[in-house]
Amino acid sequence: MSFPELIFGNQEAYCSTLIQIDNFFLDHRRQLADVDFRARQIKTAYICLEHFFQEFTGPICSSCMEPCCVNRHGFPDFEDLIVLRAMEIEPPAFNCQCIDTEPCQFLSPAGCILPRIRRSYRCTWYFCDVCMDKFQQLNCVEFIHFRYEMTLLSQRRTELLRLFEEEWMRSCQSGSYG
Ligand code: SF4
Ligand code: SF4
Repeated sequence: MSFPELIFGNQEAYCSTLIQIDNFFLDHRRQLADVDFRARQIKTAYICLEHFFQEFTGPICSSCMEPCCVNRHGFPDFEDLIVLRAMEIEPPAFNCQCIDTEPCQFLSPAGCILPRIRRSYRCTWYFCDVCMDKFQQLNCVEFIHFRYEMTLLSQRRTELLRLFEEEWMRSCQSGSYG
């Protein structure tokens, strides 16, 4: 994807990117109708996945002594912000004045305070070895179902971003964005 890279630690850039993406959606409402459709599908995929996470990773992560959650993982990238805006979900109010390798600002003693759908995508697709071992122990049908839902989420997200990118590139070429 050819989106700008969000630089960690720059609050001004983060806020102006939010505004830029928001304005793009407002100015291209009609052209982004297919993006809206994908966004609804992504929401459904998150709903279907939630019980797997609660059941399988929830108990492991909540008792983890060394959570992998650090600020640089919780920081949404440009693509995350597009998908969140498409789903009409408010992006996390990320405080960029933080150390990237320190515990994530959204991590509480009870785990992540953000609903999964509001987190960076990497927070959903990443599984440590302990979690992967747990998945291997799932009975086959459950695991196949989980993998299927994760694949659907990934495909829909990729498709949404592709559709958005097409419109974004068109606008950049015409000189109105980018
Ligand atoms: S994914 Fe693994 S390392 Fe990260 S919080 Fe969960 S158990 Fe801990
Ligand atoms: S946003 Fe939540 S899941 Fe992601 S790194 Fe931070 S605490 Fe962990």
